[in-house]
Amino acid sequence: MNNKKALRKTGILGGTFDPIHNGHIQMALTAAKEYGLDEVWLMPNGSPPHKNDRLITAKPSERLAMTQLAIEDCRQEMGEKCPLVLCDYEIKRRRTSYSYETMEHFNDLYPDREFYFIIGADSLMDLTLWMEPERLVKTCILLAAVRSGKDERALDEKIREYSSVLPGCDIRLLHMPQIDVSATEIRQRLKENLPVDHLIPASVNAYIKKHPSLYA
Ligand code: ATP
Repeated sequence: MNNKKALRKTGILGGTFDPIHNGHIQMALTAAKEYGLDEVWLMPNGSPPHKNDRLITAKPSERLAMTQLAIEDCRQEMGEKCPLVLCDYEIKRRRTSYSYETMEHFNDLYPDREFYFIIGADSLMDLTLWMEPERLVKTCILLAAVRSGKDERALDEKIREYSSVLPGCDIRLLHMPQIDVSATEIRQRLKENLPVDHLIPASVNAYIKKHPSLYA
């Protein structure tokens, strides 16, 4: 019997989500569709090691609440087919979480799951600078989101390079429609009182409106 067949395919999309936006949601849904994932866990980071250079604007509880609202919006639209699930593991740890530690923990805790760790192309290019990348690649299949043909060629080359420096790594491309949005842009637009309703889920927009000091 092939045990792999019984494993639940589970995507993990971590991010600061300050705030969560349509690019994140699209990335999670595209991964679920392209790789037949049963679930995609949206995991707001607690204290991400690579973002120490700037303060995260919203509090952990606010980023968690906005992520939950975005998931509810998706459920309204897709019903039972919505694969998104909130994962509060890293945000509740209240200390820097390294991806390899989180993923080793999930592998121990959920032997019935196969994990797909979803990252942007830019993050994949820097993978060897992450903490213990050789341990991370043993815990999951990495899905790297590409947004253009140029991205795809650069990533293909990088993946070939990683196959010799990170033995056993399984890195696959995730073909995203281009969504030109970042949380930085949203925070900036909010500061300038510009509309953001086309960039974030409706209930996240309503939450920010209800808490006007959040990104003022
Ligand atoms: P910030 O602008 O504050 O740095 P961000 O919008 O890049 O934030 P993060 O929470 O840092 O969002 O991102 C989490 C993941 O989502 C990263 O892997 C990032 O590459 C990816 N991502 C962010 N925006 C998009 C987008 N528009 N399309 C595809 N992937 C995205």
